Amino acid sequence: MAAGDAALIKKINRSLIINEIVKHEAISRANLSKVTKLTRATISAQVADLIEEQLVVEKEIEYNLVGRKPTMLSLNAEAGYALGIDLERNQLTFVVTDLLGSPVSVDVMRCDCTNYADTLRLLIAQISSYQQQYNGRRYGLIGIVISVHGLVSSDEMIHFIPRLDWHQAPLKQDLQAALGVEVHIDNNANLSAYAERVFVHHPTKNLISVSLYSGIGMGMIVNDQYFSGHDGFAGEIGHMIVVPAGKPCECGNQGCWEKYASETIVFEALSKLYPDQKLDYTFILQQVEQGDQRLADVMEQYIYYLTIGLNNVINIYNPDVVVLDSGLLRIYPDALNKIKAGLRSRISHYHGLYISELGRTSCTLGACAKSIQQFLDIPALSLPYHAALSLPAAAPEYTLSSSME
Ligand SMILES: [Zn+2]
Repeated sequence: MAAGDAALIKKINRSLIINEIVKHEAISRANLSKVTKLTRATISAQVADLIEEQLVVEKEIEYNLVGRKPTMLSLNAEAGYALGIDLERNQLTFVVTDLLGSPVSVDVMRCDCTNYADTLRLLIAQISSYQQQYNGRRYGLIGIVISVHGLVSSDEMIHFIPRLDWHQAPLKQDLQAALGVEVHIDNNANLSAYAERVFVHHPTKNLISVSLYSGIGMGMIVNDQYFSGHDGFAGEIGHMIVVPAGKPCECGNQGCWEKYASETIVFEALSKLYPDQKLDYTFILQQVEQGDQRLADVMEQYIYYLTIGLNNVINIYNPDVVVLDSGLLRIYPDALNKIKAGLRSRISHYHGLYISELGRTSCTLGACAKSIQQFLDIPALSLPYHAALSLPAAAPEYTLSSSME
């Protein structure tokens, strides 16, 4: 066997072993040998290397039975940290997770993040502070992935973000030049679909995840592959026209779906009805409890248009699983049944329709998971669900000026 072949086989075996350790959370060497079908000697040698690299730790589990306590192997979750950033029009969200995808910090910055140069400076300053914070750990920050609500080309160039009016923005290159580390850029809906796969483990090869926040985007897994289109722009479903000659959209068209079924539209409608009110999910829930008909009308209208678009999406893809990533739907009583009732077509076929439980930070969790998979160099990643759900309920909010002088 040539030396190159031996090195390749060693690399493949390593990836296989790490994959099983992550998947099982804790596994003995004997079981590892069983599930990977590798010899005990190979397992021992590889595990010794992984322990030496501080990527894997040994733990003895308590046993009531007499005899030796089995030594279990687990990923050393604290060996490195992933940073996921969600870049939205009025806010930046920074989520740091350990190597098992468990969030250790969530910071939300309100800012007027429309100007590219100011946003770039803000990102550089903030990422640098995270780099310093995690410097002392074995691998420090292992990866940085930024989620953007717009078109990202296959080479990770930001092609167009309608709500920021950014065209051909070289955010990846600019950040890498300033920070001296690799940075990745992806579309928010793609990252949310990825998070569903990594944390929720839907047993399917055909899943679509529709993100309904300031705009509407869609991530797609088709026949077990992520589908991103010829240029990487697929999934811009928010710009599907649902009302001919309807409301004008930043994309240059009229009547786009996200002008009728995004959260932005709901809050715009509410701000006209309740001009002096601080509008948030809590307010919406209060009005629901009080039986406020004006609010119910806005929500009914929202769900009506949401269902129109979903009907079209389902007919195009015939998905197995449809995940709706939406804060509003998560809190609104009976939302799922109302949507299902609206999907009346005898042609539309899907099997499961769910509201995502990952919350508003699903794209940042997907961003962190992407870094973890790249760092561990494994073909697929499956992380514990409880890790994703342990996100702090109320993220701290503070305001920073986008100008850093
Ligand atoms: Zn549009």
